[in-house]
Parts: sequence; C-alpha cells; structure tokens
Amino acid sequence: MKSSCLRVALLFALVVSLDLRAAQTKGLPNILVIVADDLGYADAGFNGCKDIPTPHLDALAKRSLRCTSGYVTHPFCSPTRAGLLTGRYQQRFGHENNPAWLPESTVAGLPLSQVTLPQVLKTAGYATAAIGKWHLGAHPQFHPNRRGFDDYYGMLGGGHIYLPGAKGGAEYTIPMNRNGRDEPLPAYLTDVLGQEAAAYIQKSAAKPWFLYLAFNAPHTPLQVTEKQLARVRHITDETRRNYAGLVVGMDDAIGVVLKSLRDSGQEQNTLVWFFSDNGGPVGVTHSDNTPLRGAKGQVFEGGVRVPFLISWPGKLAEGKDFAPPVHILDVFATAVALTSAKVPATHQLEGVDLLPFLTGAKSAAPHERLFWRAGGGARSAVREGDWKLVQGEGAKTQLFNLATDIGEAKDMSAEQPAVLARLQAAYAEWDKANVKPLFESPNPGKAKAGKK
Ligand code: CA
Repeated sequence: MKSSCLRVALLFALVVSLDLRAAQTKGLPNILVIVADDLGYADAGFNGCKDIPTPHLDALAKRSLRCTSGYVTHPFCSPTRAGLLTGRYQQRFGHENNPAWLPESTVAGLPLSQVTLPQVLKTAGYATAAIGKWHLGAHPQFHPNRRGFDDYYGMLGGGHIYLPGAKGGAEYTIPMNRNGRDEPLPAYLTDVLGQEAAAYIQKSAAKPWFLYLAFNAPHTPLQVTEKQLARVRHITDETRRNYAGLVVGMDDAIGVVLKSLRDSGQEQNTLVWFFSDNGGPVGVTHSDNTPLRGAKGQVFEGGVRVPFLISWPGKLAEGKDFAPPVHILDVFATAVALTSAKVPATHQLEGVDLLPFLTGAKSAAPHERLFWRAGGGARSAVREGDWKLVQGEGAKTQLFNLATDIGEAKDMSAEQPAVLARLQAAYAEWDKANVKPLFESPNPGKAKAGKK
C-alpha cells in the first residue's frame, strides 16, 4: 500500500513537473542555426550570384532579413565556431587557431572554462542537437555531448570526405559519430546531414529545440556528384564548377531541412540563422567574395563579412535588408533574451540581443564597434560605423570608409589621422582583455598565406 502510494505520488510529481515544463516553454520558438563552410560572399543567389543556382537559400532569403554587414568573428573555421557557441570573442579564452586533429590533446579544443549556448538553452527547457562539422576538439572531453548537446551526429574534425570510400587524410576519413559511437558514412555527406537535420526537426515538434547544423560544404575536398554537376555544367572553370557543385548540394540539403520545418508546422515558430563561417578561399576553390577585398584567412571584408540571413516568419520583416553591422556573437545574446535562459554571471556575453533592432523597436545601430584579431595579433581590424581599421594586411596600417569604398581600395589613414588614432586606441583597449592563443593551427605556414 505504502509503495503504491509512493508510486502515485511520484507519478503525480512527474506529471506536475512535465506540465510546469510545458508551461514554461510554451510559445518559445525553436532556434535553427545553419552554418556553411567557406561560402563566398557572392556565392548565393540572394547575394547576387549569377552562375550557381541556390533556389532554397534564395527562398529562405525572401522570408528573411538579409544582413548585408553580417560578420563572423574570425576569418577561419574553428575560432568562428568557438565565438558562435560561447557568445564571446574567442580571443578572450585563447581559441584563436584551428585545433589539430589530436584525440589525445586536452588543450586543442574549446576550453572547458567556457559555457556554451546549448548548455544555457537547456536551462530554459530546450532540447539541443548538433549535426555536422564540429572542429572544436578531438579529445573525448570536447565531444558535443559533453558541451551541451543532447544529440550529435556528424564528423568531429575540421573537414571530411563527401563520398563514401573516398581517400583522404586521417582527420577527413574518420567515421561519422553519433552520440559517441562510430558509424560508416552511408551516402553523400551533405545529403546525409540534411536528412539527419530534417529527421530531428520532424521528431522534435513537441518541445522547443535548438539545432546547430554545420555543413562542411562547400569546403574542400571538391567531391561532387553527377546530380549536382548537371546543374553547374555551364561553369567553364573546372575548380569553380566543382565548388559550385558543393554549393548546389548544400542548397539541396537546406531545401530538405526547410521542407521538414514547413511539413511539421514549425516554420512560423522557428528562428532561423544562416551564415558562412568565413569568407571564400578564392585562390583555392575559386569562390567569389565580390565586391569585397580579400579572402578566408584575412581581416579584409572578404575574410569576415559573409552571406547572412535571419528568418522568423510573422515576427520579423521578410525579404528586406538590414544594413547595420551585426556578428555571430549576437546569436547567443539574442537566444538568451528570447528564452530567459540562465547565463552564469562569470560568463560575460559580448553580443547583442538583435530582436529590438530587427523589429525596429530600437533605431540605433546594435554595435558601436566590432573587432577582429588573428594570429595572436598579427592581423587585426576594427569596424566603427562606416570606418574600418585594418592592421597586418601588408606593411602599412590602413583605414577605409566602407560606405564609399566597400572594396577597401583607398587607404584614408593619411587624410583621417583622428579617426585612425581613435580606432587604434579602441583596438588597443579591446585587446587588453585578450590572451595568447592556447594552441597553434596544424599548418601555421599555410595559415600565414591565408590558405588555411
Ligand atoms: Ca571555414
């Protein structure tokens, strides 16, 4: 009798707690963050691309605000992801390079001192999942399941073969990983990631979820299928044609993901972010950052300004541009404001809740200044309004006015000494809170050439 009373009481407590949980999370939107890898600024139709068809991204853009000055916080892969998932400039905690594929290293990965966005969203009742490229450490302590993601499917390194059985280095040929267990790659990688994300969305409609979907497309290796190539045969340059095939494959997969949102009735209740993790590596993949100067690895606009969409149908304007500078640290801050998720006081967020700015409730620019630092300070930049300070790209410090010179062609440092001095002082002040890189990239020589 006693034990059956206890069982009833426990059952009642469980039902009440589930009810409370449902009440607390009612009305909270899902958050879907889709990240492309090395997509050029001009390599999506919504950003002016003419030779690569991206109908699904373009359809998403029609339901989105297009951030024309949308930035990542680093010009290459892993540091950008460290910034995105912590909401802090990654130089604050030494994550300034790509970690080598070192499963034995407890250093080469996203420092355990940092709190992650999924950890925080779990306090607000969210289910959390990561699908795709991780690149935040190969040691088991860095595994996505240990960093706040309830579910993970993907490849833990910095890149991967696309075709099952294709040859490649150790990092690129590791098995797929599902919640810590190895699985063989069953089909073309980009298709698989899209299907996994769609399946997650379909099965998760009952409670709010956060899904971080990180494609490795269109990063090298340039492995494409006939189906993709059939749509880009008009591109005569072979390297760009293969790169375009990767872009088309990612667009197809994004189409599958967005269809699952629609079919499961969640489109109106999902905040979607889309951006690339850095600019296109023009010399390697013949990607196109027009009209921006520079490429992946550089702090010129071509390295850090990326295709960038924010969609929340019914809540945000659709098919419009948002011009003030924003960056990926804003993803975390916006999610926290939206969900009232708990962030430890010691974890100082550096992004901004964008929603009041995107809805027009606030008319000022979200950020006074944005900062970049790479190579432990070898390259750096500051954007303040239309001004951009660039240091370490060539011998001379340069100053550009992006309103009249988006291609950073005319150095204004001699004409505007006061602006130059103000931005240099702002950088020096910001840099005081940075630390030295905790680990080096696997190929620092290549990195210096901007080809990482
Ligand atoms: Ca990248």
